[in-house]
Amino acid sequence: LSQELQRLLELPAETPDGVRIPLYTNAGLLSDLSHSLARGSEGIGLYRTEFPFMVRDSFPTEEEQFALYRQVLQAFHPRPVTLRTLDIGGDKALTYFPVQEENPYLGWRGIRISLDHPDIFLTQIRAMLRANAGLGNLQLLLPMISRVEDLDEAMVLIARACHELQDDDDAIRMPRLGVMIEVPAAVYQAEELARRAEFLCVGTNDLTQYLLAVDRNNERVAKWFDALHPAVIRALIQVVAASQRYGKPVSVCGEAAGDPAVALLLLGLGVESLSLSPSDLLRIKWVLRSFKRQQARELLSRALNLEQASAIRAMLVQVLVDAG
Ligand code: PEP
Ligand code: MG
Repeated sequence: LSQELQRLLELPAETPDGVRIPLYTNAGLLSDLSHSLARGSEGIGLYRTEFPFMVRDSFPTEEEQFALYRQVLQAFHPRPVTLRTLDIGGDKALTYFPVQEENPYLGWRGIRISLDHPDIFLTQIRAMLRANAGLGNLQLLLPMISRVEDLDEAMVLIARACHELQDDDDAIRMPRLGVMIEVPAAVYQAEELARRAEFLCVGTNDLTQYLLAVDRNNERVAKWFDALHPAVIRALIQVVAASQRYGKPVSVCGEAAGDPAVALLLLGLGVESLSLSPSDLLRIKWVLRSFKRQQARELLSRALNLEQASAIRAMLVQVLVDAG
């Protein structure tokens, strides 16, 4: 780390006008945890539980999952740890659970598999709830929600697991529950989802992919994929408004949160926290410490008058360069 970044490590993620934006990190493998701790992460904003499932050759048992989740929760305690339930399908495959589909991104993914296989889902939920006993820093996050009934059904299963466990252990608590906003339908029902859940978390990787109809991993169409597309910005405005209406915090946990130009805009939008790759954390802290919320709001207004992602990016990059 350069001397300047080393100095940043000690300083809070706070704008010059005193707005605190907690910076959490995304993780999946145990090595992400040590990197997160080394960069001063304020918690895990997105733990992708499918990663430990992907590096094995059979489903981990409840005990194996319990041990892993306990380790993650303990490593960050008392800081929050957001464990996302299994998000396989799409580009994330398990060799021992093959899914063959023509359009995997539009197929059996995330919460859809969990709801069709309550056995897999309940095993995971039980392991998470048990791991949280006596700690209390767990937050649960549900991926690929596209209908309110996805959330309602998942909530019934989670409450059931919680009550069953509470019969034997009174240290078991119902965790805070959040919903990923990563499918366009969830943007248009963000109010209904915000009413039910305790927090929202925008996944810009999938939201951009689905809003713009651009495969997030296809190099050939990479120039069509941009989280600064005006349509994505308008979607974000709608999600923030819905969450504020119900007093529920909203964070952004897609890769875009680690992009200085996007992070600057997210500050202006009123997003409460960011979750990013540990390697982006200090750079984004620098951005937050360099701009007042009001300046970021003005940049958002300017961005809304531009019609192209490239123009929005050029404007923001110029502002960042001028700031040093
Ligand atoms: C996203 O879609 O933006 C996200 C954070 O989840 P993942 O990248 O794991 O799909
Ligand atoms: Mg996603």
